[in-house]
Amino acid sequence: MLNILRQSLRTGLVTIGDPIGSFNPPPAWRGTPRFDFAAWRDARLAAAACPTGAITVLDSGASRTVKVDYGLCIFCGGCADACPEGAVRMARELEPPALRRGDLVLSAEYEINSNGVQTRLLSGPARGSASGSIEETGAAVRQAVHRILGRSLAIREVDAGSCNGCEVELHALNNPLYDLERFGIHFVASPRHADMLLVTGPVTRNLELALLKTWRATPDPKAVVAAGACGISGGIFGLNYAVRGAVDDVIPVDVYVPGCPPRPESLLYGILLAVGRLAPPREGLRTAAGQEE
Ligand code: SF4
Repeated sequence: MLNILRQSLRTGLVTIGDPIGSFNPPPAWRGTPRFDFAAWRDARLAAAACPTGAITVLDSGASRTVKVDYGLCIFCGGCADACPEGAVRMARELEPPALRRGDLVLSAEYEINSNGVQTRLLSGPARGSASGSIEETGAAVRQAVHRILGRSLAIREVDAGSCNGCEVELHALNNPLYDLERFGIHFVASPRHADMLLVTGPVTRNLELALLKTWRATPDPKAVVAAGACGISGGIFGLNYAVRGAVDDVIPVDVYVPGCPPRPESLLYGILLAVGRLAPPREGLRTAAGQEE
């Protein structure tokens, strides 16, 4: 017993503080591709290297539209390796979850010369729709959590065809480092007990009906989080005979969490963001402990 106490004191506190503000990934983490659109001279190289089509280039006469879709990105770093001028680099920062699919897409317009080299940035980069900074979103999340999480939040995880990469990261949410339960959030076995569905994987045809039935079985108000590139867009699997499509092709999605797989911090951030999409509990119907009155 004494040894256990001694060991605990030696280890100290390992749980991370603010999951949004204290992001500190391990040294081996590959990172997130970041694009210096003004310095980018030839997006075709990155587009050719991208295995999922997350970077698209559309030329029309002397102009070019470049789009980067973080919902398709698997964070492999191929684009950074393919761009010799360093306009693309892997940064040690998270791509934050988004409330709208379009918020994960950046686009820019260029003037190009006869060799297809980008000579001037005409406009952008712009997000698909208006998006606040990570600090603004974080502040809004904290307010929503205060307002709504006067009770615990129950999540049903649905694997709609995932490779299990996302599940490994989801498991990490319960370890002492991330300690999801300190926020009053826990996973449940039945959708009938859930406030939120967290869906991973491209939706396979075999699991489409199961996903739909799970969504129908979850009582209102409910929120849906699509986790990982596959859940957002089909990811590396894309669309094929066995895949029905992205999660929002089957059920409405409230929050999109990019990554392949998303880091636990991203998942936690996405879950907290989705809390804001749940209607506040009706006065008098639930106690702070979550008991029906
Ligand atoms: S990091 Fe993303 S955008 Fe870059 S090549 Fe890989 S999948 Fe494509």
